[in-house]
Amino acid sequence: MLFLKQDQELVPQVLVKGEHADGEIVRIGDVDEVIEKPIDFMFPFNLDLQHFLSGRSLLLEEVPFSIEEIHEHVQHGYVVYRQGILSEAGGYRCGRCGNREMQLFYSFRCSRCKNVCVYCRQCIMMGRVTQCTPLLEWKGPTPTIQYNDVLEWSGTLSPSQAEASAKIKEAIRERTDLLVWAVCGAGKTEMLFEGIEEGMRLGLRIAIATPRTDVVLELTPRFRRVFPKVPIASLYGGSEDRHCFAPLVITTTHQLLRFKKAFDVMIIDEVDAFPYAADEMLQHAAEAARTNNSALIFLTATPKEVWQRECYSGKRNCVILPARFHRHPLPIPTFVWCGNWRKDIEKGKIPKSVLKWFQQRLGSGKQALIFFPHIELMEMALPLFREFDTRIESVHSEDPARKEKVQAMRDSKIPILLTTTILERGVTFPNIDVAVVGAEDDTFTESTLVQIAGRVGRSPQYPDGNITFFHHGQTRAMIRARNQLLRMNRDARSKRLVDG
Ligand SMILES: [Zn+2]
Ligand SMILES: [Zn+2]
Repeated sequence: MLFLKQDQELVPQVLVKGEHADGEIVRIGDVDEVIEKPIDFMFPFNLDLQHFLSGRSLLLEEVPFSIEEIHEHVQHGYVVYRQGILSEAGGYRCGRCGNREMQLFYSFRCSRCKNVCVYCRQCIMMGRVTQCTPLLEWKGPTPTIQYNDVLEWSGTLSPSQAEASAKIKEAIRERTDLLVWAVCGAGKTEMLFEGIEEGMRLGLRIAIATPRTDVVLELTPRFRRVFPKVPIASLYGGSEDRHCFAPLVITTTHQLLRFKKAFDVMIIDEVDAFPYAADEMLQHAAEAARTNNSALIFLTATPKEVWQRECYSGKRNCVILPARFHRHPLPIPTFVWCGNWRKDIEKGKIPKSVLKWFQQRLGSGKQALIFFPHIELMEMALPLFREFDTRIESVHSEDPARKEKVQAMRDSKIPILLTTTILERGVTFPNIDVAVVGAEDDTFTESTLVQIAGRVGRSPQYPDGNITFFHHGQTRAMIRARNQLLRMNRDARSKRLVDG
């Protein structure tokens, strides 16, 4: 879109009547500064537009209101055009994702501004932001909607869930930061219910963000069931709720890029999971989507090392849930040396110790997952395992039949499933044993190994199981993972959170 610049004011070119009035035609990215109009409190602003745009940062094509109406709100100070790409000393900055890396800016011959136009590659999956792209933001009053007594849930919290729930509620009320460190199987979702109810009562806007679409899809119906009166938006690539205003938003971290200063409470689930922990863009998005006075709550089973230290030394506000909901201790991994397993597999044989473990499971009919650090070696190993049972399968992130295989595993049609770290979290099979082959590989970080061990003994019917790390040399990550689990069990026993 192009603008006519008159004095300091920007008028969309399409709204300029007749021949050019005084002024020059510019791209928004070329002006030094966008002047914001003061709010005219007498102006009867459009409530639908307020609800739609409040807390967002959107492309023109994402806003289903006419440019006439939008511009009228700009002139009365309720909406502002922001620069999609800002020129900075020595380069550019993306107004949406915060990107400053020069190699992530490309230029092309743009049909909109009929010029060579720079755009951001980093956030291109959300629609292209260019030098001629304005981002629309709401500057008027924020809608406040309060909901009283909205939680419809008849379940009960375990004592440690109740403790965490109280801490979460407090963080939401006081708008502070909190880390909830809960072991795999502690039951994180239920702990959020009361805090969210409190937030709704206070008229706060809450986001639950997670790196993975699967988690959004799993959480949404659970929250809709217990908060039937609260509008809940469920956002991920391709979702349909993008255009509704909701006090509670369950979203992938990517979709946070479309928000600005929107949320009074930001809850980030699985903060350690790829890609959030690694991705600066998403950290920027989560930061930019919060209001200045907001609560920030992290949920994780496997915080990074520095956070663990801060928790234990009292430097970080945190609550630790060392026990599972079903009150059984966490299964502890056994370390078994398996020699040079790569060489073995390349030579067409399964390492002896792994073979023995595998045959025991196959013989007793207990289902198992066997983790491998890399796809290639796993695929090489698959036929070796299949010689014993042709129902054995493998799965990895690029496998098109991934969902079907996981389902077949759930239906017990697959006795043993070989997998990469794709199944390290999120999936629950009720009664399985787990092996890691090549546990010394760099792929298996402390947090990955804790997550993998967390697959075992999830259900109250089958709270135990075997978890074995087959290795060609112990690593610090392996030892730290085991110590972390041992410490959780010790804490759980001393607080009487586990039986026996
Ligand atoms: Zn960008
Ligand atoms: Zn352009």
